[in-house]
Amino acid sequence: MSYKSFTTSYSRFFEPALKDRYIPLSKIEPLLFSLKKNASLEKIGTSVGGLAIYKIKIGNGKKKVLMWSQMHGNESTTTKSVFDLINFLDDENEVSKKIISECEIHIIPILNPDGALAYTRINKNEIDLNRDAQNLSQPESKILKKFREEIAPDFCFNLHGQRTIFNVGDMNKPATVSFLSPAEDENRTITTTRKKSMELIAVMNKLLQKHIPGQVGRYDDSFNINCVGDTFQSLGVPTILFEAGHFPGDYERDVTRKFIFYALVSALEYISVNKVNGNDFESYFDIPENGKLFYDIILRNVPVLIDEKVVLQDVGVLYKEKLKNDAIIFEPNIENIGSLHYLYAHKEYLDCDKYFTPLPKSELSNNWLIQNLRILQ
Ligand SMILES: [Zn+2]
Repeated sequence: MSYKSFTTSYSRFFEPALKDRYIPLSKIEPLLFSLKKNASLEKIGTSVGGLAIYKIKIGNGKKKVLMWSQMHGNESTTTKSVFDLINFLDDENEVSKKIISECEIHIIPILNPDGALAYTRINKNEIDLNRDAQNLSQPESKILKKFREEIAPDFCFNLHGQRTIFNVGDMNKPATVSFLSPAEDENRTITTTRKKSMELIAVMNKLLQKHIPGQVGRYDDSFNINCVGDTFQSLGVPTILFEAGHFPGDYERDVTRKFIFYALVSALEYISVNKVNGNDFESYFDIPENGKLFYDIILRNVPVLIDEKVVLQDVGVLYKEKLKNDAIIFEPNIENIGSLHYLYAHKEYLDCDKYFTPLPKSELSNNWLIQNLRILQ
């Protein structure tokens, strides 16, 4: 297998046991307990709610990489990608053999199993673990710190998922994947550590642009030492924030997971072949920053009665994700009514005045919305 052909043969590595948005620990445990010869499993601690936190180790090389997913329990896409990656590394091909011989990869697939079970961002004590890097008030935070110290990684991958609201620059393109090389200080100094993260992000972006042109964004780098990435980077460990986002029509995020897989393999391949010194960091800044210009749905030109006159307005809708019967349902929720001409939507309904009866704004409820979406669909 030549370099890059891991993209064309991806379907071989797609882990079919993990699909859709709801990925609690019970779904990954059968995979953990049947890991192949290259990987070893260790239980490294217990969550507030008493669930196991596991770490997988693959490879015996000198370059150490630590990655963790589902620190935010409802951000499951990168966990699916991680298991695709494990399948890839188990496959004997040129790229995977090189990665395994050069790298020692440590993966915590679900750092916040209580949040994963409840499908929430926060942990069982309602703490956002990505704001607990300094306080270390939660067992999950302490476990991550302990293993960062024990492993002494050369690189950390902080794996997250982002909402559908994010676009790239000011364009009508969703941020399907976003990255950040977090700041280490208030001045956002471009240190060597940051440059190394930037160099890897630039490598991943170059590959992703071939598959999802214009759909890669960069987060703004305002400094917050309570975030894990900012803390680790300030300790001299090049750390990358990955954000799995929206791909058109893919609310289950089983397309986006592929692009995160591409990113992970390309970064590991680069690390295994090159000495990452931060010299090639500049194209990181070619990646546009993210905006927040998307709604899930916009109904255009809805007739609204204002002072007994009909005014055409736009209705911006976002889905609320709810856990029901072990699956995630997407409930439409009105976020804004007004002139939303400067905003984009993943689904737009134009000229709603042709179909709707004018009503006062106060009657445009979520029930009204659900009924009318049925009419439009
Ligand atoms: Zn997150």
